[in-house]
Amino acid sequence: PPEPADLSRTQRRAQSKSKSRSSSANGHLSAEDFDFGEILGEGSYSTVLHATHRATRQEYAIKVLDKSHLKRNNKMQTALAEKNTLVRLGSGHPGIVRLHWAFQDEWSLYFVLDLAKNGELQSRISRMGSLSTTCTRYYTAQLVDALGYMHAKGVIHRDLKPENLLLDEAFRIKVTDFGTGKLIDIGEQRAKTFVGTAQYVSPELLEANETSKSSDLWALGCIVYQMIAGRFAFQGLSEYLTWQKIKQLEYSFPEGFDAEARDLVTRLLVKDPAARLGAGPPGSANDMAALRAHPFLAPINWPTLWTDPAPPLE
Ligand code: ATP
Repeated sequence: PPEPADLSRTQRRAQSKSKSRSSSANGHLSAEDFDFGEILGEGSYSTVLHATHRATRQEYAIKVLDKSHLKRNNKMQTALAEKNTLVRLGSGHPGIVRLHWAFQDEWSLYFVLDLAKNGELQSRISRMGSLSTTCTRYYTAQLVDALGYMHAKGVIHRDLKPENLLLDEAFRIKVTDFGTGKLIDIGEQRAKTFVGTAQYVSPELLEANETSKSSDLWALGCIVYQMIAGRFAFQGLSEYLTWQKIKQLEYSFPEGFDAEARDLVTRLLVKDPAARLGAGPPGSANDMAALRAHPFLAPINWPTLWTDPAPPLE
């Protein structure tokens, strides 16, 4: 075979093209294909790094998971479940972090994800104290839309909270962290096992160790409350006391809380999971369409929700 130096320029170009095409088509990428930059964040089993794909200069966030650490802590299944969930969600929704590729080497698993340049919604809420009604409405609508998509795909998130809502360069939401997400088969309505963050955990999880799509709607109610009030809906002096408050539905609205947002929160923070707005079967009075049609969301123009500019963060 001719030495590379003997190849004409077009041949070389074709060769490198086919190489990059085959590597992306059959997933044979490796860490070598990326320039790694700053650390974007760290999880219990992972480090997320800024990365630029060398061939295309496209930027990504790469989640690197240490295999031996995962194995030692029996978390290999969780990591693979996260990957499978992301694969199931695919590229079908702009509000969900997309997995572009996954590969591994001797030491690590690599998940190449959409880069969310503006960090977590949580840090915005903390920085601002709370969000304006307009902002809250916008992020609520994006979350409702993303939830509708993932639930239709049979994915329950199970750990929705503002830390898991990332913001892209246009300040639109990207839901992330499907490590605790549960795939449910068609027909299977409930998933067992305990996960979640104290303040957003649903009463059915605490009382019956059960979650369903409706547990994500409970978390949505907690998030809407938090965006407007600037504090948790349920917060005790300890995790245990927080759980007591959740089970007793013990929370109250601060003065000045937008009346329509208040009505929405009241319809989401309902003890009976089946009675929550958005949880009913299609066609029922509390189905997903009814949630989207709630008066708080009336000003939302759904067809352009992901293309309209985000309202200024305030
Ligand atoms: P744990 O695994 O302990 O639950 P985690 O789920 O937050 O933590 P990661 O998913 O590894 O862990 O994310 C770690 C941090 O990296 C996140 O808190 C976030 O700030 C940042 N991060 C994660 N994914 C992205 C992304 N796609 N774009 C930008 N930053 C990201």
